[in-house]
Amino acid sequence: MGKVVWFELDDSGNLDMKYRSGFVSNSSSMSFCIDTKEWDNVAHLAATMILIREWGDQDTQLVKKLKQALDDGLDPNTSLCFNTSNYETYLANCGSFIAVSTCNNHMGFWNLTGKVEWDDSHLDILGVKLEPGENASEEMGYNLKWISEYYYIETGFVGKVNGKRGIRTYERCKKHFEMLVVITEGERKGQLVCPICERERIYNENVELD
Ligand SMILES: [Zn+2]
Repeated sequence: MGKVVWFELDDSGNLDMKYRSGFVSNSSSMSFCIDTKEWDNVAHLAATMILIREWGDQDTQLVKKLKQALDDGLDPNTSLCFNTSNYETYLANCGSFIAVSTCNNHMGFWNLTGKVEWDDSHLDILGVKLEPGENASEEMGYNLKWISEYYYIETGFVGKVNGKRGIRTYERCKKHFEMLVVITEGERKGQLVCPICERERIYNENVELD
């Protein structure tokens, strides 16, 4: 299933890239909804979740990055994506609720304020019909990446996964097996990128790209 990539600060304060191959047995994606009334906006929820990762300085640096983007005019209710241990976290603004797809390794996510389980009204709003036998939490954990455009906090671009739910025509990065994303705004609009390759490019200029 490809490599999982994340970054940690080394003793000299440089971001050090870490890899893990394949699945971790106790790790899976999970999803739930957050009642919008409980939070100021999507960015507030994202900053809280980033700090729950407990990745030390990397958390505070990423929250600073998000704050800077907001200062530069990013709408705090933009749907957001950021790195968590085995699966990316997607926060999709759905009006009355924020749909969250994330990794169950971060136990603090279970106790977030305003957390509600999926019901049919959420799925109706998202236009998702579950097939018989499909579990809403699992399916939405996998499918939220298709629901919205996202601002990728680490790399600072807005993009959308290049494919549709149920139509497996999407392309994946050969290195990370990650689904490719089309950049939808700015100077790079239209470019097809791997979000993990983009992250490596930002944090480790010397990493060789495919
Ligand atoms: Zn990649």
